[in-house]
Amino acid sequence: MIKIKLHNTLTRKKQIFVPLDENNVRLYLCGPTVYDRAHLGNARNVIMFDVLYRLLIQVYGKKSITYVRNFTDIDDKINNKSLESGRPITDITSETIQWYLDDMAALGNLEPNLMPKATDYIPQMINFIERLITEGFAYVEEGHVLFSVSKYKNYGKLSGRSVEDMIAGARVEIASYKRDPMDFVLWKPSEKNLPGWESPWGRGRPGWHIECSAMAHDILGATFDIHGGGNDLQFPHHENEIAQSCCAYPESEFARYWLHNEMLQVDGKKMSKSLGNFFTVRDLLDKGFAGEVIRFVFLSTHYSKPMDWNLPKAMEAENILRKWRGLTKDNTEIVSIPDEVVQILSDDLNTAGVISLIHSYASKGEIGKLKAAANFLGILTEEMGEWCAEVDVSSLEDLFMTLRKQAIESKNFENVDKLRSKLTNAGLDVQIGKSNVTLVQNARFSQLKVTEILDFYGLS
Ligand code: AMP
Ligand code: ZN
Repeated sequence: MIKIKLHNTLTRKKQIFVPLDENNVRLYLCGPTVYDRAHLGNARNVIMFDVLYRLLIQVYGKKSITYVRNFTDIDDKINNKSLESGRPITDITSETIQWYLDDMAALGNLEPNLMPKATDYIPQMINFIERLITEGFAYVEEGHVLFSVSKYKNYGKLSGRSVEDMIAGARVEIASYKRDPMDFVLWKPSEKNLPGWESPWGRGRPGWHIECSAMAHDILGATFDIHGGGNDLQFPHHENEIAQSCCAYPESEFARYWLHNEMLQVDGKKMSKSLGNFFTVRDLLDKGFAGEVIRFVFLSTHYSKPMDWNLPKAMEAENILRKWRGLTKDNTEIVSIPDEVVQILSDDLNTAGVISLIHSYASKGEIGKLKAAANFLGILTEEMGEWCAEVDVSSLEDLFMTLRKQAIESKNFENVDKLRSKLTNAGLDVQIGKSNVTLVQNARFSQLKVTEILDFYGLS
């Protein structure tokens, strides 16, 4: 059996992955808070985990994998949006969940096996919190329940930081109901106009961290294999999940391998809602960037490296994919995924390494292998290929004829020359006949550039 190696944040080492049970490999990815469209950065670990899921399926078989990704559908950001807009909370969350599913599917991601919503697990969370209180790890103060961080000696082990460093580095909230500023909320009271559930501590709602611990425990058990998220979640979210889970179930390890992706950046800064430097996945899809092109750009950089999104990368991805689609168009061979592909991907999800290998298959004319390897990464599939179909450029041909006629009459060729250079730049050869013009796609053809031209002339 192929050995998968994964970089484990907990040990800071690349380790051979040994599941607890080969017939029941379990992974959990922290999912989105559903109040708004996902931005492009949010897609990064979904694609990363999707690749991991495909690899685990290949090695252990589909039936042996349980992949869980939650929806955080109770949060102050959601409450605020509801209060501002006057729309019921469940309208907002169910709409956003559907957007999210559509956008992630457009990027070629398989759906996880289970996608629990936090609001469906309130009794489990209450149960979990009661256990923590009984065991002396949590206390009740002014209707709040807080986790007492000093009671957990391994706090900070994941992010490798001391408690003092963490306090200095993060904005730790000081509040009258906290015995120690590091303590975090497990349960808080809800005012009448906010969602709330009856609990032993009055009507209230859960804190954020407890939901992942409770859902992972309920679905995957006290100890499971892999837990992931962006590296911005290491502290406090993942430290807190570990603290709660290991204190409530002292005989367990909680998650054994922790995988964290680096951030998608804009000008050296993390793309984020709060900085306002973001664009949504839907923005890009609507602008004509194909889901497959976006996915390829992500796959080209290892998940542990910071990366930028930019137009030249998208254009290069488009060219490569168009070329590969051309090569595989008439290929009907059924080739199994080459071992060397699985081997390379098994080295801590080396997606860029697999892409290099696919290039070498292309240059050697090994088309069956090319297709099998690409499909393994979730690209070059039939569903993802619509963007690559022959593009209708007849409106540009008509425009060219109109401008050409005007140019001949006025003896001013400026406008038609400008259009011609844009077309050439987009990879369209301009073939002028007696009474018509034909635009022919060449190897440098770019759908994205054609979309830009159509926009420019108001033809889209
Ligand atoms: P949020 O909705 O901000 O809690 O984020 C949902 C997921 O997206 C978490 O796993 C974050 O770590 C991840 N994430 C947020 N921003 C970025 C970014 N700029 N690049 C990569 N991942 C991100
Ligand atoms: Zn989580």
